[in-house]
Amino acid sequence: MKVAILGAGVGGLSTAIALKQEGFDVDVYERQPISTEIGAGIVCWPNASFVLEQLGVLAQAITVSGSLSKMNRFSSTGEILGSLDINELSGLMGYPSLAIIRKDLMSILNQRFIALDGEVNYNHNVLTLLDHNDQQAEVIFDNGKRITADVIIGADGRMNSIARQYVNLDNKPVYQGFINWVGVFESLDDVFTELVVADYWGVGERFGIVPVSSKKAYWSGGVIAKEVGERKSEFYKQDLQMLFNKWPQPIKQIIEQTPLSAINKIYVHDHNPISSWHRHNVLLLGDAAHSPLPTSGQGACQALEDAWHISQCLKKKGSIIDAFQYFTECRMAKTTGITMGGRQLAQSIFNDDENYCLQRNIASKNTDYKALASGMAKGWCSGLPIGY
Ligand SMILES: Cc1cc2nc3c(=O)[nH]c(=O)nc-3n(C[C@H](O)[C@H](O)[C@H](O)COP(=O)(O)OP(=O)(O)OC[C@H]3O[C@@H](n4cnc5c(N)ncnc54)[C@H](O)[C@@H]3O)c2cc1C
Repeated sequence: MKVAILGAGVGGLSTAIALKQEGFDVDVYERQPISTEIGAGIVCWPNASFVLEQLGVLAQAITVSGSLSKMNRFSSTGEILGSLDINELSGLMGYPSLAIIRKDLMSILNQRFIALDGEVNYNHNVLTLLDHNDQQAEVIFDNGKRITADVIIGADGRMNSIARQYVNLDNKPVYQGFINWVGVFESLDDVFTELVVADYWGVGERFGIVPVSSKKAYWSGGVIAKEVGERKSEFYKQDLQMLFNKWPQPIKQIIEQTPLSAINKIYVHDHNPISSWHRHNVLLLGDAAHSPLPTSGQGACQALEDAWHISQCLKKKGSIIDAFQYFTECRMAKTTGITMGGRQLAQSIFNDDENYCLQRNIASKNTDYKALASGMAKGWCSGLPIGY
């Protein structure tokens, strides 16, 4: 069976590896001239670590990532609002929670694909998908190339997915009313004595720090912005300093010492869930299918889960349509729940009502974080042969 994958991000590459391992003939097409490295870092929660193991790259990922032990939540003045024991969560799920710089994860996935004799076709920007004999899609690239395949996987991301346009007949990412600046901070000195996530909540503002080692962390600063506006990199630091300079250390140090070239500004969008991810021989996965907000912490993890599931479905199910339908059944409820959960948390964090935020912080202090860890573990294990 010939499979064409559109997009070589986390979802596309991991799917390519999973399918190659099962013996499928796989071609990957990516619009960029080289592997994409945008974005700062991600936490591969235990559900994602399980998939990394299945892809044969967990040991390598462990060598370049940090195994997280805890997440502490604070107010913008440094008052502790709660603490999640990540070690306990990882123990319940049976795999580590790994903080990794995105370019390191991409490099590991690329190396693994190459080791399986895979090759990404760069400079292949999909322009459109056309109906071919009313039962197959034909992919047309901007370099004039046209291809078709038994299965076409749309892994072309959340903002401009051509595959989602073909399957769903429209593609409208929904702006969720806040900005995230993301960056990677590196110091010559030890700054982080423990690998503990620090999550600070203000009124309509948030700053999160995820250490990868004692000297390195990726971070994200967020604020409400009613509309999508400009992205002028020369102002990124100024804007961040205005918002966060009075917040507890090491926030100020991190902003000051992160080079401007390592900061990105994102107007954060997701998608309303849709009820079908396939049409003819085209299947969507990753952000093109479901794109939970960063507040879910699960976007890349769910793209990885998709990769494992689709390889199992195509291997076990007789026909392509059966495989697509079974994949949808396996994945729809979990990803929809994660998308809606991400929105709920974003509405609570990016809220500019002072009284609401005060009550929210009290509720956080009163939360049973042990029960929360257990609930998160149960939800994130669902559909996978791990944990309980
Ligand atoms: C600010 C922010 C922070 C995040 N933090 C986390 C986190 O901590 N943990 C987590 O799990 N997730 C996180 N995510 C989500 C995560 O980044 C995504 O869910 C994940 O990258 C999805 O992978 P994907 O392969 O589906 O899409 P992408 O990684 O976006 O890859 C899509 C690929 O398709 C290519 N492409 C697009 N259009 C075309 C075309 N026309 N032709 C050819 N190629 C094309 C793109 O160039 C890209 O390489 C975060 C997201 C944001 C915005």
